[in-house]
Amino acid sequence: MNFVILDLEWNGSYSKKVHRYFNEIIEIGAVKLDERLHSLGTFQAMIKPVVSKKITNLVTDLTGIDKDELKDGVSFQRAIKMFGKLFDENTVLLTWSTSDLMVLLENITYFTGEKTIGFAKYYADAQAFCQKKISSENSGQQMGLSSACEALGISDEDLSLHRAKDDSILTARVFKKVYVYEDFEPYIHPIDDRFYERLYYKPKIITKVSHPLVKPEFLQFRCPECHEKLHLRGKWRYSSRMLNAEMRCSCGKKYTAKVQIKELYDCVSVRKRLTEELEPTASENEENNE
Ligand SMILES: [Zn+2]
Repeated sequence: MNFVILDLEWNGSYSKKVHRYFNEIIEIGAVKLDERLHSLGTFQAMIKPVVSKKITNLVTDLTGIDKDELKDGVSFQRAIKMFGKLFDENTVLLTWSTSDLMVLLENITYFTGEKTIGFAKYYADAQAFCQKKISSENSGQQMGLSSACEALGISDEDLSLHRAKDDSILTARVFKKVYVYEDFEPYIHPIDDRFYERLYYKPKIITKVSHPLVKPEFLQFRCPECHEKLHLRGKWRYSSRMLNAEMRCSCGKKYTAKVQIKELYDCVSVRKRLTEELEPTASENEENNE
């Protein structure tokens, strides 16, 4: 088994063909590793944009890529054909989070009409794996590549950040540092129908506590002071994408509890937050009276 770590740069513009905003890929960068994670070489292709010839300032500021650099670029179709040659039956495609994968698919569909990645048989989200290895706590926040490098003491001084090839090299450095095959294996998914179903699945936020996926423990809180179970005051209400309720502890403290329950493709995610309701102090009362 070997690995191709992919990174893309793209330019956002409005497409008259599909009547919506489109992320047109302008650079493909990748590094290929063998099963012992030794480098088998790098890949880079600059793509001459056709949807919008104007590169936004945002892209130029971030990547340094401008119109001049792209004028000798190849077509997306040609670039993707060359990129596909890096793959065989046993090659895993990796990206740092699924956003590059989504943009890759969006471009393949736009330029070739295909709805699938024909050249790759396996995919893994390097971001999800590396974050899990770096930090076991799940804050619900996605760890960026720079934060991962910082956490692992990896230097990026010799690389140009936000350029596809160098970002893929940096991703490879992070990946190598945390890689253990047994731990990584569950992250490798065959690219089949189920893969696309999962990828395009839109998570749904649950708005009612009576929903069958809501387990009683999702709505239970303990007092941070005395660790007693809190009592519900009134009802759970849905607002600002969360279920909210007032709660009270037998010790006298009052709290506002917030829970966000999301139905994902094959699991449920729960985020809970508890804030204490403080009794207004004398000075605050005075201010409120003014
Ligand atoms: Zn208490």
